[in-house]
Amino acid sequence: MDDACAVCAERLEWVAYGACGHREVCSACVTRLRFVLRDQRCCLCMTHCPAVFATKETGDRTKAIGDLSALPAAAGEGKTGDYWYHEATQVWFDDADHYRMVRAMCRISCTVCESSGNKGKKGSKSSKAKHKIKFETIEQLKAHLSNKHCLYMCDLCLDGRKVFICEQKLYTRPQLNQHIKTGDSEVDGSEVERRGFAGHPMCKFCKSPFYGETELDTHLTREHYSCHICQRQHGGQDDYFRNYDDLEVCHIKLA
Ligand SMILES: [Zn+2]
Ligand SMILES: [Zn+2]
Ligand SMILES: [Zn+2]
Ligand SMILES: [Zn+2]
Ligand SMILES: [Zn+2]
Ligand SMILES: [Zn+2]
Repeated sequence: MDDACAVCAERLEWVAYGACGHREVCSACVTRLRFVLRDQRCCLCMTHCPAVFATKETGDRTKAIGDLSALPAAAGEGKTGDYWYHEATQVWFDDADHYRMVRAMCRISCTVCESSGNKGKKGSKSSKAKHKIKFETIEQLKAHLSNKHCLYMCDLCLDGRKVFICEQKLYTRPQLNQHIKTGDSEVDGSEVERRGFAGHPMCKFCKSPFYGETELDTHLTREHYSCHICQRQHGGQDDYFRNYDDLEVCHIKLA
């Protein structure tokens, strides 16, 4: 077993696993899938895992729980017995700090309202805005952002970037379009700040963007056709055809 996360490819420090016992995905990726996408399946074998256990991948702290049913019955948010339970994702933790880190990652709040509430100097009215608006779901936050502030999150980044929800960047409509196309919106900043991000890669057949090359590759393999006979030397979209008819045309030309 190599020790990189099977989803984000970063070094595995914390893992989270369910009844199937697959321990190849980091706890941040597992909780993000469960929280943002509401997907409770194991990324490797697609087993539905109602509860998962998060622990250090290696070292003394690792308490491999073979039988997840040995965990206490879900009592609600926080500490139960030896473990900490995160209700929103149904993940159990054996480490308090790691539990708090993930809980913070899943907090849904409007950063615009919070920062304007903190200033408090712009007239007495703003003190009223100090109470934090709580959101149950990301959809509610998205609706609030667009209705109140005319701001948007990039859905691709929301699913793909391993950052706290409050750290997701907020865009105006034109900025979001620019972000997806070239990555150089005002919000995204200079090339160094973007760490080489140059927009989300586009499927040339569907004209829809994907988070990264890996996601685009998966889409091309699933939705489009590649030719096994005349496979070209270089990889990428040139190896694919929109549909089976286009693929056949390619063969006729060769014959
Ligand atoms: Zn990961
Ligand atoms: Zn599995
Ligand atoms: Zn707001
Ligand atoms: Zn994005
Ligand atoms: Zn496509
Ligand atoms: Zn061909």
